[in-house]
Amino acid sequence: MSRQASSNRTANLRWQNLHENVKLTVGEYHELWNPMPPRSTRIPEDVRATTSYVCSIIADAAARGKTIRSVGGAWSLSEVATSKDIMLGTRNLNLWFPLAMGFLDAPTNHDVKRIHYMQCGSSVGEVYSRLEKRNLTLPTSGASNGQTIAGAVSTGTHGSAFTYGAIQECVVGIHLITGSNPATDSILLERASDPVASQSLARRLGARIVRDDDQFNAALVSFGSMGFVMGYIINAEPIYHLESWRRVVPYDGLVKALMTTLDVDLVPMIVPSLPVHADKIWHVEVVLNPHDPANAYLTIMERWDTNRRLSAPEPVDTSAPGDDLLSVIGGLTAALPSSAGTATSTLLNLTFGDRGPVVATPYGTFTAPTVRGSALSAEIGVPYDRSVDAVELLMSCPEIKKYAGIIACRFVKASSALLAFTQFPVTCTIELPGVKNANTQHFYDAAYARLFASDIPVTAHWGQIYPIGDKILSAYGPNLHRWLAAREALLSAEMRSVFGHQSTPRGVTPGD
Ligand SMILES: Cc1cc2nc3c(=O)[nH]c(=O)nc-3n(C[C@H](O)[C@H](O)[C@H](O)COP(=O)(O)OP(=O)(O)OC[C@H]3O[C@@H](n4cnc5c(N)ncnc54)[C@H](O)[C@@H]3O)c2cc1C
Repeated sequence: MSRQASSNRTANLRWQNLHENVKLTVGEYHELWNPMPPRSTRIPEDVRATTSYVCSIIADAAARGKTIRSVGGAWSLSEVATSKDIMLGTRNLNLWFPLAMGFLDAPTNHDVKRIHYMQCGSSVGEVYSRLEKRNLTLPTSGASNGQTIAGAVSTGTHGSAFTYGAIQECVVGIHLITGSNPATDSILLERASDPVASQSLARRLGARIVRDDDQFNAALVSFGSMGFVMGYIINAEPIYHLESWRRVVPYDGLVKALMTTLDVDLVPMIVPSLPVHADKIWHVEVVLNPHDPANAYLTIMERWDTNRRLSAPEPVDTSAPGDDLLSVIGGLTAALPSSAGTATSTLLNLTFGDRGPVVATPYGTFTAPTVRGSALSAEIGVPYDRSVDAVELLMSCPEIKKYAGIIACRFVKASSALLAFTQFPVTCTIELPGVKNANTQHFYDAAYARLFASDIPVTAHWGQIYPIGDKILSAYGPNLHRWLAAREALLSAEMRSVFGHQSTPRGVTPGD
């Protein structure tokens, strides 16, 4: 008897995201399940069964004129993971398998040992854990690991790998469901310039191979607007070690020069007391307290082969160099209800001082699977050489005086994804995690208004609070049109409506 996928369906569910800043009533919420119990010998076939099940939900939605959004970890602080009609919860869809030699296309350049299929709902932590057991790892990720792989890739989640890029760069194949017919609408989308999967793999998954660079680069960061991502084929890296430290340093000409040039030879001059190996620097982060503009919190991570001795777990309870800033700022809400400036400074002094060097694998570095407290966050992308100008502009907003939060600058190489917000040759991502209150939103509004009025090109993280409309799309230039054209090629008009959304680029609203 064939194995069936299923879902727990709840009507009129009152849904909220992790940080409880996005709330709505969803007409139908489906918590999806692969065929149960799991069977390790039937993984591609079970993924195929789940594909058929998702297609049946899509068919039903299309027949009733409803929209669908998939949701992973619900960590996004924007509305990208929501639909008032139908939402598909993917957290249980976490099958995976290493590709066997016969699953790789003959002319591929890839090393089969590094290529894995990860189903959409696998958490980033699960992906790290599976890979590290095989002496492999992800090239980069965000600071936390509780997001799903599909949610993280679909919004362009990043760390600060300024010579590499964001998490989606490791994806070499997208198993995408673009419609209601499992025989034709389950596709393995790859770049024509980088064929990976064999017909044998496609047959086992019940998918059709489509090779097209623009369609692949469009679907990579597409926040649920390009269909349902069933899984990714990823190219992992041999495991490496990160040696990380954080130091409080003056926010002076040297740090500003580091931010605007990424000349890592400046790092030993900024922190002469530490043995810095500039050629190994992989991650640069500068955190600023708007209420103490004289100082900066500099985090550096050096990337080494596995020839460093791993550090013992640290006994202290303050934040580690790899911690995510949203969790750090979450400590503010409950603990320190004083004025914005005093509260932010006290929190940072208590929890965000000098740390390390510590040596850990990427999984050991980016550990936080949960969040502390609640917070809001916006994240702005600007070209790295304008990072200091952009920070000055933010600091000059009168609204910043009541902002209990920080300004965190990281640096990410341009992504191949057409709508990745890390668009510039190197993007400075300016994250603004702040206390959940109206003052924080006022500051975001003022910050975006000032940036839009300036000559600094601006993008925004799709998974964080961003201003909806044309202004935030202008920095994408022709990439936006290429993305829209790829969407037209991949989805029928009916499916563009099913996978439409009011808060993503113009032209992808329902019924476009
Ligand atoms: C505590 C915390 C720390 C964070 N740290 C970072 C960081 O360091 N760096 C960074 O860049 N971002 C960071 N973020 C933002 C976060 O990484 C992104 O918002 C990410 O998208 C969340 O993943 P998720 O699984 O929760 O996705 P969700 O929020 O559930 O969904 C995100 C998008 O993916 C789509 N999606 C999900 N699954 C599928 C699927 N199967 N098919 C099609 N579409 C799908 C959804 O429709 C939605 O548009 C952080 C957020 C939080 C709350």
